[in-house]
Amino acid sequence: MRKMDKGSLLHGVWVFGDYRDYFQNRVTLQLIAKGRELAETLGTRVTALLLGEAVHQYAMEYIAHGADVVMVAEHPDLRHYQVESYTDVVAQWAEAFKPDILLGGATSFGREFFPRLAKRLQTGLSADCVNLTMDPDTGLLLQTTPAFGGNLLAEVVTSQRRPQMATVHPGRFKELPHNFNAVGRVVYPGIEIEVNTQVRVVRSRRRQAGGGNLEDAQIVIAGGRGLGSREEFTFLFELAELLKGEVGATRPVVLAGWADEERLLGQTGKTVKPKVLISIGTSGALQYTTAIHGAETIIAVNRDPQAPIFKMADLGLVGEGSAVLNLLLETLRKRGKRGRG
Ligand SMILES: Cc1cc2nc3c(=O)[nH]c(=O)nc-3n(C[C@H](O)[C@H](O)[C@H](O)COP(=O)(O)OP(=O)(O)OC[C@H]3O[C@@H](n4cnc5c(N)ncnc54)[C@H](O)[C@@H]3O)c2cc1C
Repeated sequence: MRKMDKGSLLHGVWVFGDYRDYFQNRVTLQLIAKGRELAETLGTRVTALLLGEAVHQYAMEYIAHGADVVMVAEHPDLRHYQVESYTDVVAQWAEAFKPDILLGGATSFGREFFPRLAKRLQTGLSADCVNLTMDPDTGLLLQTTPAFGGNLLAEVVTSQRRPQMATVHPGRFKELPHNFNAVGRVVYPGIEIEVNTQVRVVRSRRRQAGGGNLEDAQIVIAGGRGLGSREEFTFLFELAELLKGEVGATRPVVLAGWADEERLLGQTGKTVKPKVLISIGTSGALQYTTAIHGAETIIAVNRDPQAPIFKMADLGLVGEGSAVLNLLLETLRKRGKRGRG
């Protein structure tokens, strides 16, 4: 495989840093870990990009989690995540230093920012990738992404243009453990910031929403359209509480308003890796199952014995979702009372 020129400090694999919810949202650290793996195959470095106002404290965190270099832009106009100014800065850097690969989280900001950046840099972008590997023959990044409405997984390469760009869902890769002895460089390349006269972000506040620690939950109870109603879906929250787990949902459930968008599992939602996942009234569409492959044990409940979800389940129960849910709840409630008595 072609090895990269290690001489250029800022060449190689770049990861866009999103630190806004550092302790909960670990997608940057997950991508740094994946970037490390890709960079080692190419014989190059991983650079994390950090934009904002007074953000240098995160640079050490990125280095401790595997970045060789952190490139920082600090400026009052970068205080809020704003797509125009962020695109300007990262495009300037990419044009100056020519990274080979540029990765970012498929978060709401990533979905807005990465297509714009790809257009500016006149390169390709694979959105919502489920895996990234290096092709050993060509040295190109293989970007595995759902295609044709999610019914196929396509392997995409950006053969000519650079950087090779991809976004990946939070939870898809594992972050490296914090290494207190890690050594890296923090650089502050010059930037020019054009003040955007069309959009000015005055203030930004985090919306209070559900979803909790779905990505880190050891037990996930996922509900689908087969539960039939919001009332029935609400019982999943009781079950999750009794089992100390979190509730996830399929897209139709979110569209029906039975659950917040933050609970959406799948290609366009979160990815989970629990020890146990109980999936009730879900058919098992690829766009949903792509998010639950990492579960150690999958228990599926569906009244249709032919439902595709049974193909990936470790334990399948053919029956009415509400009946199984009631049975589980009754058993756990009784156990709870006995425990207290
Ligand atoms: C580009 C694109 C992206 C998408 N992204 C996502 C995504 O991120 N996440 C996602 O979830 N979906 C996504 N979808 C939608 C996805 O294709 C499926 O339509 C969706 O996952 C189906 O959700 P479901 O299993 O809840 O509903 P359904 O497919 O309607 O399945 C309901 C299941 O419940 C069973 N059932 C019915 N009644 C009962 C009962 N009383 N008891 C037990 N079982 C019962 C039925 O047999 C059926 O198998 C996406 C689609 C597209 C095109």
